[in-house]
Amino acid sequence: MYKLLDGKAIAKIIKEEISLEVTEWKNKGISPTLAVILAGDDPASVYYANAKKKVCANLGFEYQLHELSAQTNDRELLELTQQLNNDKNVHGIMVMPPLPRQIDKDKVMASIKPEKDVDGVHPVNRGYIMSGQDGLFPATPQSCIEILLRSGVEIAGKNVVIVGRGDTVGKPLVFMILKHNATVTICHSKTVDLGAHTRKADIIIAAVGRAGIITADMVKEGAVVVDAGINKTENGICGDVDFEGVKEVAGMISPVPGGVGSLTTALLLKNVLKGISLQKGES
Ligand code: NAP
Repeated sequence: MYKLLDGKAIAKIIKEEISLEVTEWKNKGISPTLAVILAGDDPASVYYANAKKKVCANLGFEYQLHELSAQTNDRELLELTQQLNNDKNVHGIMVMPPLPRQIDKDKVMASIKPEKDVDGVHPVNRGYIMSGQDGLFPATPQSCIEILLRSGVEIAGKNVVIVGRGDTVGKPLVFMILKHNATVTICHSKTVDLGAHTRKADIIIAAVGRAGIITADMVKEGAVVVDAGINKTENGICGDVDFEGVKEVAGMISPVPGGVGSLTTALLLKNVLKGISLQKGES
């Protein structure tokens, strides 16, 4: 019988912790503020930007939405990030993906002050992930780790197989999970015989973006399965794991929705609070 890795329940606890910390900062005269930059009108980005606004309001954060047209250019974006970098009342800056094609994404990400880079995209924060130093790290790989730790899963010494080496989830996760002393294997589209690797895993983390790519025959009896995938299908949102099949063999499994994705906005806001400490030189 499997145990559900309940992202919603864990998110509730994290949000309670965040609310307390927000109150503490407010008592010190600081109103934690997230600034989101939205360039263009990609429907998913607009949806996620609005969802962040709601969570900010619920947890006592100030929220600023800076909208630019789809025809914006590097200069306009860099001026905006500079302005927000210099604004003492802004503690976290996030640029919503995808950026319009004409924009030099790397240049924009590198223009955000590392201590305000709550999405963990600045090369300095990427470097800190690799070197094992503390910094601001992306929310989704953090969610994968939080969902494991807060469900009582021991990571140290385990064989962890990460499927997907994308910049947002898989790649940063390798170093983050390595810091927890796991033995890490990373698989991708050129991996030969994916199942041969996943069957050896004590913990599988799927971050691919292909519905149902992880099936029951690829999972060891009793393994822990974390699904970071989000796929839109005609039956709604689903993950990368064939949940119905895999739950029959897994010891623990995270659902989609209600798993990893439930934690990400909360962890982004936790980064805003961490950013305040970093900006004050307290961390
Ligand atoms: P990405 O950059 O597109 O990376 C996908 C990875 O999957 C690539 O490394 C690719 O391999 C690998 N892959 C593709 N087909 C494969 C196959 N047949 N076998 C093994 N690996 C395969 O994606 P991402 O941005 O990292 O996102 C990954 C998933 O996480 C997506 O479903 C995305 O929607 C989801 N996501 C969820 C959240 C959340 O809040 N829960 C947040 C962000 C992203 P190659 O490198 O060889 O091409």
